[in-house]
Amino acid sequence: MPLPTVAIIGRPNVGKSTLFNRLVGKRLALVDDMPGVTRDRREGEAQLLGCAFRVIDTAGFEDEDPASLPGRMRVQTESAVREADVALFLVDARAGVTPLDEEIARWLRSAGTPVVLAANKAEGRAGEAGVIEAMALGLGEPVPISAEHGEGVGDLSEALQPWIDLPEEEAEDEDEDSPDAPLKLAIVGRPNAGKSTLINKLLGENRLLTGPEAGITRDSIAVPWEWQAADGTARAVRLIDTAGMRKKAKVQDKLEKLSVADALRAVDFAEVVVLLLDATKGLEVQDLKIADRVLQEGRALILALNKWDVAEDASRLFNGVKAALDEGLAQVKGVPLLTVSAATGKGLDTLMQVAFETRDAWSRRITTGQLNRWFERAIEANPPPAPGGKRIKPRYVTQNKTRPPSFVLFGTRVDMLPVSYQRYLINSLRREFDFGAVPVRLTMRAPR
Ligand code: GDP
Ligand code: GDP
Repeated sequence: MPLPTVAIIGRPNVGKSTLFNRLVGKRLALVDDMPGVTRDRREGEAQLLGCAFRVIDTAGFEDEDPASLPGRMRVQTESAVREADVALFLVDARAGVTPLDEEIARWLRSAGTPVVLAANKAEGRAGEAGVIEAMALGLGEPVPISAEHGEGVGDLSEALQPWIDLPEEEAEDEDEDSPDAPLKLAIVGRPNAGKSTLINKLLGENRLLTGPEAGITRDSIAVPWEWQAADGTARAVRLIDTAGMRKKAKVQDKLEKLSVADALRAVDFAEVVVLLLDATKGLEVQDLKIADRVLQEGRALILALNKWDVAEDASRLFNGVKAALDEGLAQVKGVPLLTVSAATGKGLDTLMQVAFETRDAWSRRITTGQLNRWFERAIEANPPPAPGGKRIKPRYVTQNKTRPPSFVLFGTRVDMLPVSYQRYLINSLRREFDFGAVPVRLTMRAPR
């Protein structure tokens, strides 16, 4: 059966090949072996969310001579797009929308192939203006990604998912917002924090492991299992596991290098990420970096201090880590900090309980009515400042997305609200609706 096909298209230099390489990795198809396939066509197989699909990199259609580019590109790209189940249209978030982007967009709208729009080079929230600009292309909301740094791949997968084949087991999870959908959980941490021990303990005690499932990414797998709560109920979990964690013996020497990249890959596909710390070592800068990245990617984060069975001076240690966290992760206060022992199993029930609760908060939807009742009170209690004597008039708030909860604030000059005031609003919103420590996003939209 032919695989579903994704054609990556965009003007030169937006990062098509970089994205292609990220998706396909080394499994580049030997195009020479395929009869009837042009030589300059780069295509290969990729896997996301457990779905295998074919990717075509149309960068191969670009000529050396830029003058002859549009014509040649059009012919080759047209055939690739016609063949594809979905066109992945890439723009450069940093460069903004160019006339050629607009031309491609116009053509795509008329081509009839579904389009997923992605704004590349948006690492670390760079190019935010370009991302917003790309909305004007009329191809839906752009997914901010960084092909080079691997950011946003999770969101991109979700956007592509309707067009890339769903394996049977996945079909039932389509309604991700359902509290019964399997919890996608990743366990990350520095080498020796106890990740493997924790995973084995969790899986071993439940004994419901049904065997690994084909790749979530080319290097990771999702292990489906069920967590038996203390009250006897069973809840589905999908543990996102990575090669670096599993094939530990084989990659021992590379482990140090692998761990961060692996962790970040797992983060892309998780709803909730448990960052495991070694209580005998405490919190290090590296841990804060991972934690920060998890929150930046909009994933819900839980910290667990492992090896609690051998921790010395426990309460001092706990308070120290707690204080360092609140200081180091200033944008999200109160990230859950739990104590566990992967070796004895102590604290694991609580960990899973908190993981499910956190996912619920992360997926919560607030009605516009509830939001605006809160909003009126919040701006009355603390009216927005008037920078330079210009009045800012916030008008209303809506929730435009869940997972993570994302809100848009509309009003005159709201884009001029100082960061401190935005933070006040986010914190107040978080408290009002029990979002706990899940990342909450608030975007300002002022009419021009
Ligand atoms: P193509 O012509 O569309 O295939 O683009 P390439 O993949 O060759 O990338 C063009 C340039 O953009 C290269 O210098 C890449 O290193 C750079 N690039 C690609 N993706 C990113 C990204 O996510 N962020 C940044 N900053 N640069 C990127
Ligand atoms: P990973 O590199 O993060 O996968 O860490 P491992 O699971 O391989 O654990 C590293 C070492 O810590 C091993 O020697 C484990 O036996 C030990 N370890 C893991 N969890 C605990 C724990 O809860 N208590 C104690 N005392 N040792 C642990």
